[in-house]
Amino acid sequence: MADVKTHTGSCRCGAVAYEVDTDLEGLIECNCSHCYRKGLVLNFVSPEAFRMTADGPQTEYLFNNHKIRHLFCDTCGVQSFARGAGPHGPMVAVNIRTLTDIEPFSWIAQRVDGRSF
Ligand SMILES: [Zn+2]
Repeated sequence: MADVKTHTGSCRCGAVAYEVDTDLEGLIECNCSHCYRKGLVLNFVSPEAFRMTADGPQTEYLFNNHKIRHLFCDTCGVQSFARGAGPHGPMVAVNIRTLTDIEPFSWIAQRVDGRSF
């Protein structure tokens, strides 16, 4: 298993920024009507592993069963993360395309068939 490190991320304009402690294992990209359109690459972490460092205004988008709160920056429109409830309790789904301290495309994500769920 890779080492857990503290990574930094933000939306395009920087109004929303965060730190996340993660080993960047188990990344997924999904073909559902939401994830696919946004190009999200997700890393699910516990709320304790996620800290806001800039808390600018965001709009919440809910769909389906409304269990996941998709948040996007009011200024630049980028979705850095979502908050929701997973099978093991509360979680944060970090869009790792918004990490600012790793090389683009240095990650490998598993494709999942969310469209069929
Ligand atoms: Zn922004």
